[in-house]
This record gives sequence, C-alpha cells and structure tokens, in this order.
Amino acid sequence: MENIEKREQLYEGKAKKVYATNDPNLVIVDYKDDATAFNGEKKGTITGKGVINNVMSNHMFQLLEQQGVPTHFVEQLSERETLVKKVSIVPLEVIIRNAGSFAKRFGVEEGIVFDEPTIEFSYKNDELGDPLMNAYHAIALKAATREEIETIKAMAFKVNEVMKQYFDTLNVILVDFKLEFGKTADGKIVLADEISPDTCRLWDKTTKEKLDKDRFRRDMGGVEEAYQEIMKRARSA
Ligand code: ADP
Ligand code: UDP
Repeated sequence: MENIEKREQLYEGKAKKVYATNDPNLVIVDYKDDATAFNGEKKGTITGKGVINNVMSNHMFQLLEQQGVPTHFVEQLSERETLVKKVSIVPLEVIIRNAGSFAKRFGVEEGIVFDEPTIEFSYKNDELGDPLMNAYHAIALKAATREEIETIKAMAFKVNEVMKQYFDTLNVILVDFKLEFGKTADGKIVLADEISPDTCRLWDKTTKEKLDKDRFRRDMGGVEEAYQEIMKRARSA
C-alpha cells in the first residue's frame, strides 16, 4: 500500500490502539503489551506480546483468506502495526469450543473433547460484563440480522476447521477461541479484530501444557515463554 499516512487515534482498547489513516476505509491497529483479564479487573504487562499477537494474527488471517474466509487484513506495517479495513464491529463475541473449558458450567471434566464444535455468543459490552446471548437475543437487540448471524456462524465454523488443522501441525490442540466480525463500508461481513494466544486456548498436544493467556489469568508463571513458544512453532512450521 502506498501513501498511507497514520492520522489521529480513534480508540484505545485493552490490548490495541486504533488509528485513522488518510483513507476513510482503512485503519491501523497497534498491538500493545498490556494484558487484562476478568473484564479488566486484572491488569498486567506481557513483554513482547504485542509483537507476537500482531504477527500471529496476520499469519492466521492470511491463511484464512487463502481458504476463502474474508478478513479485515490488508498489510502488516511494522512489528506492532497492521493496516486493516475499517469495519463497524458486530457487537458479538463469537466463541467456538472444541473441548470443554466450559466444563464447570455443565459439571463435566475439563478438557473433555466434543464430537462436534459448539458455538456461543456474548454481547460485546464491558459495562454489562459481556453477557451470554443467543441468536434470538442478538436479532431482538439489532446486534445483527438473521442473515448476518447465519453468515457469521458458517464463517466461524470454517475458521475453526482451518485453525484446528493448522495448530495440529504445531503439535497444539485448539481448545476454544473468540472471534469478532465486522461490516465493511459496502455491508460485507468480514472476520476482524485478532486471533492470538490472547483470544485462543492452546494446549501442547503431548503434555497438555497451556500455551496461552490462561497462564496470565491463573497466575501460572511462564507467560512470556508460552507466547514465545507458540511464535517459535509458528515460525518453524
Ligand atoms: P477492547 O475494545 O475489548 O479493549 P482491543 O484493545 O483489542 O479490545 O481494541 C481493539 C478494538 O478495535 C476493539 O474494540 C475491536 O472490536 C476493534 N476492531 C478490531 N478490528 C477492527 C477493524 N477492522 N475496524 C474497526 N475496529 C476494529
Ligand atoms: N475470550 C476472549 N475474550 C473474551 C472472552 C473470551 O478472547 O473477552 C476467549 C478465551 O481466550 C477463550 C474463549 O474465548 O479462548 C472462551 O473463553 P471463556 O471465558 O468463555 O471461557 P470459560 O472460562 O467460560 O470456559
């Protein structure tokens, strides 16, 4: 991309900043090392996380594009910055689970593997603590239309198939993850935000060691090392 100029900051979130550019349809996301958990109650820094999440996300988005999933990705600009299509975010956190981190909710063993993946939505609203929501609630609140929900569901399961296979080649189990979708200026639904160890549960296939943000959430130590390990495996794949 030529002649892209970074303009004013539009938003600072918990993990990223978003900047305007001279093109109204493009924004720059800038990945920070800041880490939060439990809706911002727990705060910290994971040194080097911003760089890893930027590179990992872009790698995933490019892989997904190749497999026919439209994403917001345009071009990586630096270690921490990426040019993306500006979207209006559908206010749903879309969570796919291949295995049972939601064990506690239903009284089953953690790590139980499902025959088929599950999908669920949370309403993206920090003040309300991102409450769980079904498709009818989402339609009633005009968070998305019925057609958009169907598109999002199909895309999310496709993302899961591509990512599951990819992580398997890294000797990693993709337990669960969160996706966000957005609408471009012309109304097309694309995958947005990020896909990284912040937003996925990733377990070593052999040892079942956690290689994701759960190490930060649960004060397990070895947080930076876990992010670096995922990056190392991705680079050597
Ligand atoms: P949060 O808002 O949850 O603290 P982040 O720190 O990751 O999250 O901030 C990034 C923000 O940018 C999020 O609100 C996310 O929904 C939004 N976003 C992600 N991709 C795009 C995009 N392509 N266009 C506009 N906004 C985006
Ligand atoms: N997730 C996320 N952001 C959130 C909430 C969840 O990225 O605000 C991811 C999380 O990393 C995990 C998946 O979504 O990979 C499911 O998380 P959730 O908190 O729902 O799991 P639970 O602890 O309820 O099993």
